[in-house]
Amino acid sequence: MDANTLIADFVSICLMVLCLEKNEWEKLIDTLVKEGVLRSPRVISTMRLVPREMFLPENMRAYAAVDTPLPIGFGQTASAPHMVSIMNEALQLEVGNKVLEVGAGSGWHAATIAELVAPSGAPRSEYGHVYTVEIVQDLADFARKNIMKTGFGDRVTIVSGDGSVGFAEKAPFDRVLVTAAAPDVPEPLVEQLKSGGIMLIPVGSASLFQSLVKIVKGNDGKVKQENLGGVAFVPLTGKYGHKF
Ligand code: SAM
Repeated sequence: MDANTLIADFVSICLMVLCLEKNEWEKLIDTLVKEGVLRSPRVISTMRLVPREMFLPENMRAYAAVDTPLPIGFGQTASAPHMVSIMNEALQLEVGNKVLEVGAGSGWHAATIAELVAPSGAPRSEYGHVYTVEIVQDLADFARKNIMKTGFGDRVTIVSGDGSVGFAEKAPFDRVLVTAAAPDVPEPLVEQLKSGGIMLIPVGSASLFQSLVKIVKGNDGKVKQENLGGVAFVPLTGKYGHKF
């Protein structure tokens, strides 16, 4: 065997190893599974299927697999993958659910939820839907563009406006999630949650010292609150948000 053949064989083996090696996103998901953050098979496979990279501004894409919030402009962030995982596990999403998200941002979190309530390949008659409200008009446009280009346009509707008052037009919802920190739980969001529904909302100061609160509305309409632990979200603005 001559030197050139040896080099060519070596290069092709290296390429094969590179192809077989998991990409950074896969590795991050494996870590979140190992740490027990991701637990349910459906939530795990959704996180693999809907990578954050496709929803980020171009200059942030290289950092998509870094487990931290990333800037998306206008002082806002796309949530960290571990936070989206925690919320998607706690929401106990079911196929067919109608979901309200307050704070569309990049549209990534909404897309992961859409894949859980209206999985690719499921009959359309079983599809649930995600309504996600964004108060910054430019970000609503950004999220809409991302949702369309990734093929989620039939399962996610981006609404421009103040989501702190909910989205009465499509209420009630099986699940409500707020991805910005509120000073208190906005009453209209609780009202727009179905009996038997689950809501997640970070509650606390405009920066730091916030708790992720889980609200479960019983079939009798009574609500129970549970504190899922400390979190750090950008502030909710609008009627029921923080005032600056
Ligand atoms: N879910 C987003 C994602 O996947 O990229 C991340 C959301 S970011 C942490 C919070 C978002 O909430 C910001 O885009 C912010 O503009 C939005 N927001 C804050 N107050 C709001 C309100 N009252 N109504 C709707 N959106 C609001």
